[in-house]
Amino acid sequence: MGEVLLLTKASNTKRRQLVVGNWKMNGSSRENAELLAGVLNGWRGERGADVVICPAFPYLYQVGEILRGSSVMLGAQTLSEQERGAFTGEVSGSMLADLDCKFVIIGHNERRRMQHETDEQVAQKFAAVQRVGLVPILCVGESLQDRDQGKHLDTISRQLNAVFSYTGKQAFENAVLAYEPVWAVGTGKTATPNQADEVHKFMRSQLGGLASKVRILYGGSVKAHNAKQLFALDDIDGALLGGASLDADEFLAICSAAE
Ligand code: PEP
Repeated sequence: MGEVLLLTKASNTKRRQLVVGNWKMNGSSRENAELLAGVLNGWRGERGADVVICPAFPYLYQVGEILRGSSVMLGAQTLSEQERGAFTGEVSGSMLADLDCKFVIIGHNERRRMQHETDEQVAQKFAAVQRVGLVPILCVGESLQDRDQGKHLDTISRQLNAVFSYTGKQAFENAVLAYEPVWAVGTGKTATPNQADEVHKFMRSQLGGLASKVRILYGGSVKAHNAKQLFALDDIDGALLGGASLDADEFLAICSAAE
């Protein structure tokens, strides 16, 4: 345990919890079918949390077909900010809507860092998701250097403001936020409850009149053994999972902890 929790109570009741599995560039037809069989076998859907799975583009159709009729929803890992045309290799929002996606992850740190997506581009992608009636899951989070220098809230503020100024705050009525500290994603290092609580409260405070309505997920090495402690915080409304979403038992344990 180590750390003493200094958590303040949020003034609102909790929102419905949401658990999102980001499969990243993993899977094959056979692996997907096996993993989903395990997930659907254990998740009956009558429970108190929403569950979304985001496979790689080539498997959206396969996964969508397997999920059809279940309560588990389909999501995508990114999209093009363009609507259609000569953009080789890109995938549009209307294509994702056509495949029955409900959510799209935007601004994941791997895309910000490796594909050099700018704050402005992330804002355009956010708008592109909403243009076709889907729900963006906007990821924000600081680097280790930002945190060590005490600048983590500045980074998050900059990333949020880029979208606020492009779409207006009202657009967040149909959006999900995810706090994903870069140093915690895929590293096995999870933010402490106090660290996560500080940032989630800050993010909520930036949402103005929508503060009590928007779901804010935590992402960064969430596993079955630490999920419950994070989900107990008033301002954490679920999780965005990478590694843990590739194991049916681990994924289901986290979904159950979210209920
Ligand atoms: C992620 O990629 O969004 C993520 C949270 O990964 P992991 O759970 O593996 O840290």
